[in-house]
Amino acid sequence: MSEQFFKKKKSLGQNFLKSKSAIRSMVLSAEITPGETILEIGPGKGVLTEALLEAGATVIAVEKDDRLIPELQIRFQKEIASKQCTLIHGDILDLTIEEILGKTPYKVVANIPYYITGILFQTLLEHSRPPEHIVVLIQKEVARRIVAHDKKESILSLSIKAYGTPKLITTVSRKMFSPQPNVDSAILSISHITKKFFDSFSEELFFSWIRAGFAQKRKKLIRNLEIVAKKETLEKIFSTLHIDTNTRAENVDISTWKQILLSL
Ligand code: SAH
Repeated sequence: MSEQFFKKKKSLGQNFLKSKSAIRSMVLSAEITPGETILEIGPGKGVLTEALLEAGATVIAVEKDDRLIPELQIRFQKEIASKQCTLIHGDILDLTIEEILGKTPYKVVANIPYYITGILFQTLLEHSRPPEHIVVLIQKEVARRIVAHDKKESILSLSIKAYGTPKLITTVSRKMFSPQPNVDSAILSISHITKKFFDSFSEELFFSWIRAGFAQKRKKLIRNLEIVAKKETLEKIFSTLHIDTNTRAENVDISTWKQILLSL
């Protein structure tokens, strides 16, 4: 067999996890009840898949790389036969949640290829039936921005906090992967996922307001918001809610955004 065949596909974001403690920590964070359905994106060679199956989960694993499929089929032969594991050979970006899961409630646990992080969160969270809980291994810097580690909110952190509770579980050194990536990683858990935040206003309204709020970083929030509302309206809202007019978007937390939108 040619050497080429064994070359890791960089474009597929293949960094296989070697750390047993990281795997254990991901499975524990997902608080798996035996029998519940877990969607795993990019099982690779199946290290995490195996731990999820051992925890009693029903695993649906979607893997794009055809070279990995035979190995996975052999490794999980028994679980595939008993239907505890379903292996889907496909690209997660080409599939719909309905096609993969039907109407089954589910959680996502995955060491995902990093190039799909943004689109994956968006697709999963904005879906009419989002997962109950997401535990993913992602780039450390992205995980930190999501939890607003430096107390600075961003469009990214707010877009996640509107749906659930993000928590950085632990960082995972780049040394724990093969091949070694250029950045460190972190386990991010997003629990308590619901659409309740959007009971009284739409997702579209929320996103248009936060995008406006962050439009120009140097500007104060109230000035940026003039893209979406009249100056007088904004002044009234800020005064009613006791928000300082000098406030910048990065200092406004998710509950204050909710109050702003509720007062429209
Ligand atoms: N979970 C494994 C592998 C992580 S590497 C482990 O922890 O070791 C990322 C995996 O995602 C690779 O197996 C890669 O082939 C797969 N992958 C990349 N892009 C994908 C896509 N669009 N859809 C499904 N799987 C994908």
